[in-house]
Amino acid sequence: MKTAVVWFRRDLRLADNPALDSALSCAEKVVLLYIHAPHEEHPWCPGAASNWWLHHSLQAMRRELKQCNADLVIRRGDSLTVLDEIRRKVGAEGVFWNTLYEPAMKRRDQQARHALRTHGLQVRCFNGTLLREPGDVLKKDGTPYRVFTPFSKCYQGLELPAPLPAPARIRSAHGRLDSLDVSALGLLPALRWYDGLQETWQPGEEGARIRLNVLSGAFLDTYPAERDIPALEGSSMLSPHLHFGEVSPSRVWQATDVRPEPAPGVVGNMPAWSFRRQLVWRDFAHHVLWNNPHTSDRPFNRKFEGFNWESDPALLERWKRGETGIPIVDAGMRQLWHTGWMHNRVRMIAASVLCKNGLVPWQEGARWFWDTLVDADLANNSMGWQWVAGCGADAAPYFRIFSPVRQGRRFDPQGRYVKRWVPELEMVPKSHVHDPWNMPATISGASGILTGKDYPAPALDLSGSRHRAFERFKLLRE
Ligand SMILES: Cc1cc2nc3c(=O)[nH]c(=O)nc-3n(C[C@H](O)[C@H](O)[C@H](O)COP(=O)(O)OP(=O)(O)OC[C@H]3O[C@@H](n4cnc5c(N)ncnc54)[C@H](O)[C@@H]3O)c2cc1C
Repeated sequence: MKTAVVWFRRDLRLADNPALDSALSCAEKVVLLYIHAPHEEHPWCPGAASNWWLHHSLQAMRRELKQCNADLVIRRGDSLTVLDEIRRKVGAEGVFWNTLYEPAMKRRDQQARHALRTHGLQVRCFNGTLLREPGDVLKKDGTPYRVFTPFSKCYQGLELPAPLPAPARIRSAHGRLDSLDVSALGLLPALRWYDGLQETWQPGEEGARIRLNVLSGAFLDTYPAERDIPALEGSSMLSPHLHFGEVSPSRVWQATDVRPEPAPGVVGNMPAWSFRRQLVWRDFAHHVLWNNPHTSDRPFNRKFEGFNWESDPALLERWKRGETGIPIVDAGMRQLWHTGWMHNRVRMIAASVLCKNGLVPWQEGARWFWDTLVDADLANNSMGWQWVAGCGADAAPYFRIFSPVRQGRRFDPQGRYVKRWVPELEMVPKSHVHDPWNMPATISGASGILTGKDYPAPALDLSGSRHRAFERFKLLRE
């Protein structure tokens, strides 16, 4: 083939990129194309934090490509129209891309495949996004898994091909094409609220490599215990890099190939498996969304279709601002606002307070996460929220309603995480850092914190709301 187009989407990397690798070996010259088409992801167009990330990731990709004597052609518009224009201009004979699995992307890619093939082009699609594709992991009866543990057993002992190297040079055919500058995409907001994101992250393939290098044997040894402690950096923080495809999940999987895995059929707790299991959750979430495309907006468990949620704009607003008066929740929501990321344990607690204690529809919380997380990912976010709300695949049972106070004491016993993000509570002793409203007057006086004045009184009566939620969820069973 003389000329091929590599259509980059959420695979913003040169290493272990099967579409790029294959195009380079099949074609004499390639056009590397990125089409900015957020409207095609409607109703889940990327949020503000994702846009910030994308801006920097595209810039980083351009820098990496320069070293291979190539560049990215950046366009904006309808993907099909742009693809058609580019293929005509360069006389492309083939288009290569890595598959995306969200419902809107699936539909769009099907249309693109059909249109390009009608014009006589070869279309080649690859898996560069998941460990295993939906359809590859099915129950014996050929239907998709609905429960995580048996699904995860299909990954024990999984052998993956060695990661593909990044090309040293790219024979590029983009000379005749104009490209937009990344800044022309308008991804950065007018109001500069992203300093905290900038301090925390390095978007792009190099930033992903740096995070990947953390996955040593020592990290994996401590991961099972430390991943749940929000005051520690006990998890990999690879999620935005994985979402934007700056590193492939198989590369991450192989980077953790430092310990023997449990034998197939044995549910192991060995360190490497403990970490790899999280990558399997990621695959599970994508498989569930692929097989149940309605679950980004509606419950997986149909019993919940008519559930009596209660919108509560005042509570939702306090939750978003990190002013619920419940310290572990406020700490999480402020970490989210400042860094674009929240610790997994705290995501569960914050989500649970909103949609279990508050009975606020999980979709309203999911929307806020969508806008503020740099790792906002339709499959993972929908699964995370539905898991907490109790309506998802393999979800938490309805009677499990987290107590944010008990969770705080257990996973942040010294209150270090809370005090980092809620500095008003700095002087509160650890005995009351998770329930400052219960401080006796003497302690409250000594710490200089009066709840309701220096720090908000709780937005919810935790025990009453827990009881109310329990009764409401119980109705479903009956
Ligand atoms: C309410 C809620 C919403 C969530 N929304 C998102 C989201 O939008 N995007 C997102 O990537 N994750 C989401 N998660 C899952 C999880 O919180 C993050 O993936 C994790 O905190 C990322 O941190 P890490 O990279 O340090 O994870 P690590 O513990 O280092 O795990 C490694 C990788 O495994 C994957 N992973 C880990 N936990 C999960 C999980 N529970 N489900 C699916 N994949 C997982 C991620 O890609 C992660 O980068 C959500 C969880 C909840 C409870």
